[in-house]
Order: sequence, then structure tokens, then C-alpha cells
Amino acid sequence: MEEKKSKNLGYLPAREKIVKELTSQVKEDLKNYFQDRDYGVIAVTREDALRSFVVKTTNLCEIARLRHRLSPMATAVLGRALTGAILLTSLLKHGTDQRVLLRIEGDGPVGLVVAEANAKGEVRGFVQNPDVPLFVKEENGRRKFDIGKAVGSGTLTVVKDLGFGTPYESSVPLVSGEIAQDIAYYLLKSEQIPSAVSLGVLVSENGKVEAAGGFLAQPLPGASDEAVSKLEENVRALPPVSSLIKEGKRPEEIAELIFKGFTTELLALKELSFRCRCSKEVAKGGLVAMPVEELRQLKEEGGVSIRCNFCGEEYFFSPEEIDEVIKEREKGDN
Ligand SMILES: [Zn+2]
Repeated sequence: MEEKKSKNLGYLPAREKIVKELTSQVKEDLKNYFQDRDYGVIAVTREDALRSFVVKTTNLCEIARLRHRLSPMATAVLGRALTGAILLTSLLKHGTDQRVLLRIEGDGPVGLVVAEANAKGEVRGFVQNPDVPLFVKEENGRRKFDIGKAVGSGTLTVVKDLGFGTPYESSVPLVSGEIAQDIAYYLLKSEQIPSAVSLGVLVSENGKVEAAGGFLAQPLPGASDEAVSKLEENVRALPPVSSLIKEGKRPEEIAELIFKGFTTELLALKELSFRCRCSKEVAKGGLVAMPVEELRQLKEEGGVSIRCNFCGEEYFFSPEEIDEVIKEREKGDN
């Protein structure tokens, strides 16, 4: 027992210094600080080597819906992908510029789904077909979005850009198209990290995102078999994560439910937001790549708007600005 304990501590250096017990005062402080903002908590158990990352993403999913004018079905799909990409940032170094891109290429009507998140908690993404119609299924007497039907079968790819040259890319086949299970499968197959992954987006009658979030729960090296079974049991007993968030449960409280029977301790907090790094300068890159003939035509037509796929922002280029690009191109070609 003693030996086991020290082994666990070995995986969490300086644990005493960074870990915070989740007392009622800490919970009150978190509530006052974050209020309705999106954020995530990384929590561990004191007694054994379990870890979870729980996030509330209601606002950023609603921003994605508005920016991309998403149908309820597309909102449910992209909301899950954005939340899933944020959960995958646990593979990155906290607070750095490292980023992870989640690409889901299925043969379903929603088409390509892309979400990218960085270690600072910024996320952006899009779906190919923002108007995808609604697919529902009955599960335990509840009507649910049939995400698997919208996504179809295909592959899930994760690209990790750790900031040292070529990004690391790995793909797995989609096992369900439900995204959460697919991410869990990726973590197991490509990262050798057995994990429970849950994602949920609740969309109201008028299409607005009412509640969204998710979690990742995993044993760390050295976790006891009993702890792993208890974790699995707790996760199975949980209501859908979007329902928990809808009824006002906060990420730290959901972490306590995941770790029922253990003492939950906070390791880190992360504020989350929908944010795109695009700019007019980046959009101009799209023009620079076009054939000069096409640029001349766009100039004739009175200018062109270049739209950022990731956030829907439009950048307008006037005939004069296009002319500058043509001149630069002609200079470059000679
Ligand atoms: Zn953008």
C-alpha cells in the first residue's frame, strides 16, 4: 500500500504544491470567478492515480452556431467536435502554443468536420454542410441526435502540432461516428491511453445551444484495478453530461461525480473560448495563390470576399487591393 502510494505520487511531481482540495470555499471561488463563462478543470483523486478533464463549452458552441449559421444537427456535431478537440489538448503542454486538430472524414451528410484547439483553451472549427437536416434516434426512451448517422463511416485523424517541426498525425477508423467513442478509440489505439470520453450538446427548440460540455477520465500509470473499476462504474452511472450542465452542475462538481468514492483534487483550470487566428493578411494568402487571369477577372467584377472556413469571417478585397496582388505576382513571376 505504502509502496503504491509513493509510486502514484511519482507521476505527479510536486503534487502537494499544485493540487488544491475541492473545498466548498474553492467551489464558491470558482463560481464567482467563472460565473457563466466556459472553462475546464483538470482533477485527480487523492487516494489513487485517476485523472479527469471536465469542460463546459456552452458559450463557445453557441458562438460557433451563430458564426457558421448551423442547423441544430450541425450544431450538435460541431459542438461535440469542438469540445472533443479541447479534451484532446490534454495531450499538449499546458499554456503553450501547441495545438491539436481533430478531422473527421465520414461519408454522412454533414461531410468533413474539423476542430482545432490550442493548449491555451482557444478553439475553432467548421463542418462542410452547415444545413445538414435533423436525424434523431430513441435511446432509453429519450430522443437523441443521431450523430453517427450525420457523420457516417470513415476516419478520425488527430494532428498534434507540438511546435517542433512536422506535426504528428495519426488516423483511426470511425467506430461509431458518435465522436466521443471515436475519440476514446483514438486515445486507446494511437496514444495507448485507455479513457472514458463523453460529449454532449443540448440544442433548444429554437436552435440555440442550451448546454454543452464533456469530459475525459483516465487511469494514470500505477492506478489500482479497483480504482479503474470504480471509475468505470461511476462513469456508467452518470446522466448525459449535457443534462448535468443544463441543471447547473459545474465542471468541478461533475469531476466529483466521476470520482465518487474518492477525494477530488484540482490540478489546473483552463478558460475556454471560440477564437480564430485568421486575419486579412492570412486571407490574402488565398489570393496570392490564384492564377493572375482569375485575379484580373475578380478585379473586373468589383472585388472579392474571402471567407475563413474556421470562423466564417469575411475579408473583402477591393479592385485596387487585387491590383496590388496582381502587381506583386507579376514581379514575382519575372
Ligand atoms: Zn477565422
